[in-house]
Amino acid sequence: MKVLVINCGSSSLKYQLIDSDTEAVIAKGLCERIGIDGKLTHQTMGKDKYTVDAAMPDHNAAVKFVLDALLDTDKGAIASLSEIDAVGHRIVHGGEKFANSVVITDEVMAAIEECNDLAPLHNPANLIGIRACQAHMPGVPMVAVFDTAFHQTMPDKAYTYAIPYEYYENYKIRRYGFHGTSHSFVSKRLAELIGRDIKDTKLIVCHLGNGSSITAVDGGKSVDTSMGLTPLAGLPMGTRSGDIDPAILEFIAGKEGKSVEEITTILNKKSGVSGLSGVSSDFRDLDAGMKDGNDRCRLALDVFCYSVKKYIGAYAAAMGDLDAIAFTAGIGENNPYVRRVSTMDLSFMGIDIDETKNEIRGEEQKISTDASKVQVWVVPTNEELAIARETVELVTK
Ligand code: AMP
Repeated sequence: MKVLVINCGSSSLKYQLIDSDTEAVIAKGLCERIGIDGKLTHQTMGKDKYTVDAAMPDHNAAVKFVLDALLDTDKGAIASLSEIDAVGHRIVHGGEKFANSVVITDEVMAAIEECNDLAPLHNPANLIGIRACQAHMPGVPMVAVFDTAFHQTMPDKAYTYAIPYEYYENYKIRRYGFHGTSHSFVSKRLAELIGRDIKDTKLIVCHLGNGSSITAVDGGKSVDTSMGLTPLAGLPMGTRSGDIDPAILEFIAGKEGKSVEEITTILNKKSGVSGLSGVSSDFRDLDAGMKDGNDRCRLALDVFCYSVKKYIGAYAAAMGDLDAIAFTAGIGENNPYVRRVSTMDLSFMGIDIDETKNEIRGEEQKISTDASKVQVWVVPTNEELAIARETVELVTK
């Protein structure tokens, strides 16, 4: 089967066409600046990658450009739209309604819409993407894969905030967690790599990218995760603060005369390692800055790694044991320094990193010593492939 995977942001659309039999990427690309002007970058594997300016007033227009790029006789990948057997959509927030991926129906669309206020920047864009695909590919089965679904197995003690209970009852304010597709994909692979049935494993997945989250996976189920009601919680990230004392909001508001909205924007866009270092949200720049003696780059890296380490300790305690840890996503896969410092001095927990193996970048590899009780692995994530697999499973049922 050929599955088109669509990931719609508010002004962007990422896509991959995947052959589900071989799991190979046939073509992939990105539409940017939708609603502003518009730019398409496309590559069919084995052909040249290209970028064109393309007027994209809305997501409908963007989807049309994507399909035209796929159909292009010269640089495209398919001869007819009928070759696309199914479309898998990444949906950010499924609230408590979706614990699994689902085939998209009118009822599903309505239920996703009801989750809009939990992810006001993302869910409306996801819905627009679905409608645009339905308009251009009527009759093609479509599947919604939720970032939050994998974490719906968390027990109430892990997802409940200690605020008046009515806020949960009235507004569903609770921990949801994100990056679920990645945590699910990587935990399954990690269990395979350590040669164990996932049902008998206690794993920690560290998804460290521009957005970062860590999940405790017990018996294949998410039992706790670092992001919360929104993806602002947990670890410090590229530009997001992660967890802070909530009283800081009122303190800054008083000092700088800013509104809650303005401060929330600062916590989302100007904080994290970018705000700390004053240099960049990109860990490559922080590594370079630290090597050049920039102490705030050193501090940003230290704060990040210390937070990762604390989650590893906390989640091992939460599960009562630990078999293996996976590092994944841009930083987890490519940053030996972060992996080393985050797991430093954890021999007492049975975690020992092999410094030479830890130099690996972007490849699946065990990075713990053979004597390490807890195996530590780099496991590249592949959210698009995970979405394609879910899509095939549901449409062929
Ligand atoms: P992501 O959001 O998963 O794309 O991750 C972005 C982060 O991963 C950035 O901070 C980059 O520094 C880091 N990253 C991504 N690719 C590489 C690479 N090839 N080498 C070093 N760091 C990388």
